[in-house]
Amino acid sequence: MKLPDDPAENLATLIRCPSVTPAEGGALSVLAAMLRPLGFSVERPSFSESGTPDIENLYARLSGNGPHLMFAGHTDVVPAGDDSAWTQPPFSGEIRNGEMYGRGAVDMKGGIACFVAALARHIEKHGNPKGSVSLLITGDEEGPAINGTVKLLDWAASRGEKWDAAIVGEPTNPDALGDMIKIGRRGSLSGSVTVHGRQGHVAYPHLADNPVRGLMTLVDALIEPPFDAGTADFQPTNLEITSIDVGNPAVNVIPAKATATFNIRFNDTWTAETVQAEIHNRLDTASRRKKYRKGRREPIEYDLAWRDRPSHVFLTRDDKLIETLSGSVRAVTGRTPALSTSGGTSDARFIKDFCPVVEFGLVGKTMHMVDERVAVTDLETLTQIYSRFIKDWFG
Ligand SMILES: [Zn+2]
Repeated sequence: MKLPDDPAENLATLIRCPSVTPAEGGALSVLAAMLRPLGFSVERPSFSESGTPDIENLYARLSGNGPHLMFAGHTDVVPAGDDSAWTQPPFSGEIRNGEMYGRGAVDMKGGIACFVAALARHIEKHGNPKGSVSLLITGDEEGPAINGTVKLLDWAASRGEKWDAAIVGEPTNPDALGDMIKIGRRGSLSGSVTVHGRQGHVAYPHLADNPVRGLMTLVDALIEPPFDAGTADFQPTNLEITSIDVGNPAVNVIPAKATATFNIRFNDTWTAETVQAEIHNRLDTASRRKKYRKGRREPIEYDLAWRDRPSHVFLTRDDKLIETLSGSVRAVTGRTPALSTSGGTSDARFIKDFCPVVEFGLVGKTMHMVDERVAVTDLETLTQIYSRFIKDWFG
């Protein structure tokens, strides 16, 4: 039987499934068809929650005696945008000048295609790995991420699944394969602060209380001073004001309220709870400042609302996992990858509650863009890196 050991072939098959979140698009079915001949048992749990679309997911397991490695990822993709702007149709998997085009080529059907090819090659050459391998694949990473990885992890764990390490195949390399392994991520938290004033005529400000003045003071306190200077493993914590809303169409009216929305990316100096406490503290202190509000006795009246659930910061400290992966990258590319915690959040933030997790995949340059594409040589290189990793980690 022909095993799925050609990453380009695997990827073209996956790209041809139009699996734009929340549609499965056939992508999990073709993946299941690749995994079964390798000996995997494949399950396809669907999850639902009111107010969100039902999502299909996949959990495949190859059982063996020894440690358990998880590969995690997603087959859903963001929309193609304007199809006619693409050099090759976005769901064609066509190759042009050595590059395969298609939505999901790097984010992250390509990572899945390479991992499957790496497993197939390992089994062809050495037989089954000396342990268990699972693929935990969601169809809900680019969407609300409610019926995806979080529930899939709980579902598998409730059936007794335990993992020793995980790799997420997201595109982690900024420019070339071998640039970067992600060994952690900053936390993320969003909120908004609303200042309540008193509406009135701009010509009679003493009869009103302009909330914009108070909001300027509070926003200033959110931005300065810096939260920290960064750590050995992380960039400095950073807060960005993402919107300031007054919604006042009149130039002669002092508005009644003003709101600022912000997001903070925080490092391991903090937890979500201590960041929240620090922000509360800054606002409370600033609310008594008189700058912009001369003659006002009462403190700035405001309320603070947190949005969504926070993403927690994490840093993986598993020498075997990190060194085996770095070593595999070095052996195949001749380059030493940076161990980084930069960038946005990913599903690794959920996996870290179950086992040590790192991320390594393709070059991310074209992800989410028109003409998302991957060099066919990169597919081969990543497959060799994953193959080497499987061999050495189970070694
Ligand atoms: Zn992705």
